[in-house]
Amino acid sequence: MSRPDRAQDARSERRGDAPERSDARSVAYLMDRSRRTVDAPALERAAAHANRLGLPLRVAVAYDPDEPGLTPRTAAFAFGGLRDVASGLARRGVAFEVAVGDPVAVGVRLARHAALLVLDAGHLRHERAWRERLARTAGVAVEEVDADVVVPVRLASDRHETAARTFRPRVWRQVERFLAPVGPVTLERRSDRPDPPLDLPVVDPREGAAALARLPVPSGPPPIATAPSGTRAANAAVRRFLDDRFGRYVPDRQRPDRDASSGLSPYLRFGQISPRTVAARARDAAPDATALDAFLEQLIVRRELSFNHVLFAPDVYDRYEGLPAWARATLDAHRHDPREALPSEEELEEGRTPDPDWNAAMAIMRATGGLHNHMRMYWAKRILAWSPSPEEGHARTLRLNDRWFLDGRDPNSYAGVGWAYGLHDRPWPERAVFGTVRSMTPGGLARKADPEAWRREAERRIDEERSAGGRG
Ligand SMILES: Cc1cc2nc3c(=O)[nH]c(=O)nc-3n(C[C@H](O)[C@H](O)[C@H](O)COP(=O)(O)OP(=O)(O)OC[C@H]3O[C@@H](n4cnc5c(N)ncnc54)[C@H](O)[C@@H]3O)c2cc1C
Repeated sequence: MSRPDRAQDARSERRGDAPERSDARSVAYLMDRSRRTVDAPALERAAAHANRLGLPLRVAVAYDPDEPGLTPRTAAFAFGGLRDVASGLARRGVAFEVAVGDPVAVGVRLARHAALLVLDAGHLRHERAWRERLARTAGVAVEEVDADVVVPVRLASDRHETAARTFRPRVWRQVERFLAPVGPVTLERRSDRPDPPLDLPVVDPREGAAALARLPVPSGPPPIATAPSGTRAANAAVRRFLDDRFGRYVPDRQRPDRDASSGLSPYLRFGQISPRTVAARARDAAPDATALDAFLEQLIVRRELSFNHVLFAPDVYDRYEGLPAWARATLDAHRHDPREALPSEEELEEGRTPDPDWNAAMAIMRATGGLHNHMRMYWAKRILAWSPSPEEGHARTLRLNDRWFLDGRDPNSYAGVGWAYGLHDRPWPERAVFGTVRSMTPGGLARKADPEAWRREAERRIDEERSAGGRG
């Protein structure tokens, strides 16, 4: 009988106080954030429990059309990736269903005849709320696994970190321990038949877009034609990055006209690839230690600092009040400074500002659901410069971020937008409007990148998306 290994034990926590069911027909896993079957700690944990109890494993995903902030863009990416999950689970002898309904309703049904219910962790407010509700109502033992970070968020640090400087040594002390591959656990009892059926409307993700077209989808930005989703596409993106861009990650990463970054954020956002897989493959393929350090600084330190932010500031991680006091004080002192422009939110969204580089950034976001990291910084800083108040600026930046980005509604969204307003940063020389929050200006952008080359690159990406049938 296989048992979960010790490093992986540290990812798991019991929720609620119900015991395991003794006359059970399966072990159940409600997959949510961690939508993959490779290097998937929650799946492997559930598989190990199934072997311990001599039961088959069943897995379900809830497709919830009322999920906060869901758009046709993100629904298509999330749903598209389930095709790889379905085939991965079929190969391993695991019954899999995608049920239409909210995750508590699906989870309760899934748990009905299960010995225990495994969940993967979600740290955002609504994700925590439904997990807690489900743990109270499932009527059976519930275990949650922190599966989409290298170092489990509660272990990385026990406090709300204010800067990467203090978080970095804490997380790095533990990285090695969590870099060992996870699974696969071979299931001793295979069963591809859900027992009993969920008794909810189910969809087959192997039917792809046709199946999604039959489901209710909220309105909003259309799907991205040039962004294939799923674990296979994620692995191909890792390979392209390691082969073609990793070597120039350090000199070119900050240059939006020479994209040298991985493009992995949507795959990480939807759990279609494990950050551990990416880190391990990067380590094996690193051109040199400097490139590896720079990449892992983003993938592990910066990304997991975002998770620390949402975990330790659960009520305010996405609110102006969640920004550091020094930043709010200096922005307050400059709230009456004259603004160089005051575009409305509609003008921002349509890319009708006096700044052609900013407009190109907004156009690329709308068309492709993505944007280079340096341009995200510039984009957010200019919204601060152009908003009637810093509070409104922050709220607008977040609304646009979460509406248009494929990787939006992620801990990185709240830390990224927060950063533009002083989060995880320090005071800089004082400027109009920004006070001592770091400013970014068109002049600074021109020194960083060749603006014409950047605008050509933006047009090229938008054309590519349109030729592939994109409607953004
Ligand atoms: C205003 C603003 C808004 C942002 N909104 C989001 C968002 O909604 N979703 C999102 O995933 N990221 C967001 N970021 C962080 C970052 O810009 C993106 O993660 C990055 O551009 C994704 O591109 P990549 O995968 O090619 O990154 P790479 O450079 O290849 O990095 C690899 C991975 O490391 C992580 N990473 C990289 N940069 C950062 C960073 N600065 N902070 C935290 N993690 C990072 C990402 O998971 C990324 O996929 C935002 C940053 C800013 C300044």
